[in-house]
Amino acid sequence: MRIKNIVQTSIGFAAVLVFCSLFAVGARAASLSSYIAYTQATGSFSVLGSSESDEASPDALIPGKAPGRDTQSDKKIVYLTFDDGPSENTDAILSILKQNHIHATFFVSGMYPQYRHLIKKAYDEGNTIGLHTETHKYDIYRSEDTYFNDLNQIAQIVKSEIGFVPAYVRFPGGSSNTVSRNYAQGIMGRLAAELNKRGYQYYDWNADSTDAAHSEDAVDDLVKHATACNDNNVVLLCHDAPGKGTTVQALQRIIDNYRSRGYTFRGISRNSYAPHQPIAN
Ligand SMILES: [Zn+2]
Repeated sequence: MRIKNIVQTSIGFAAVLVFCSLFAVGARAASLSSYIAYTQATGSFSVLGSSESDEASPDALIPGKAPGRDTQSDKKIVYLTFDDGPSENTDAILSILKQNHIHATFFVSGMYPQYRHLIKKAYDEGNTIGLHTETHKYDIYRSEDTYFNDLNQIAQIVKSEIGFVPAYVRFPGGSSNTVSRNYAQGIMGRLAAELNKRGYQYYDWNADSTDAAHSEDAVDDLVKHATACNDNNVVLLCHDAPGKGTTVQALQRIIDNYRSRGYTFRGISRNSYAPHQPIAN
């Protein structure tokens, strides 16, 4: 009699356990299906770019949890980065990236609103979107408030295009700029600390195509400067803006050069190297 009771209790307990685990598996499958999409045309599964919600994107801003590592990984990786766009050159840049089956990072601005839709196009094609500036005027460095007002404006534009605010930022002029001294002493140090506190990371560069200096620099010069870095992780500064047509022309040669040296190409993600230049103001 006693043995029968124990057996019955055990069977009951086991049934409850099975029921609970089935329920858990079901719930997990349902939550996964909400952010994994099946693309019929290519016959592949992909993780939806978090256009759905902030939590779904690994690239989204999480207050207090800044992404980025301050050391390089031992893999040879180039992070192509394009500042100031989207612009009249974005489509051409995207085509080259697509032809090469690689991704880059676009630190976007609000300077050319007619091309704003290209933020979403770049993102949908697998590239990383970061925040640069709405106005690209250096007087944003007058105070923390003026800087963050400008950053919030571009953040909201990006959110309206891709559904979330990315955690990746590039300062106009980089963190080591000295032009900000004209507006506020010590502002860059304060902004860098505050960005990290809010959950953003800023990315300077350790390779420079030098395309910021003039309009339409010679392609040979751009390739030479852009490919001069031998670090394992190369964060290369380029510009996506009017007057930077030769950057587009140089791009394939830059890609070919690094490829021949064993590098692969990636968009910035949460664990990528975040180079920081010495803050000078
Ligand atoms: Zn810029």
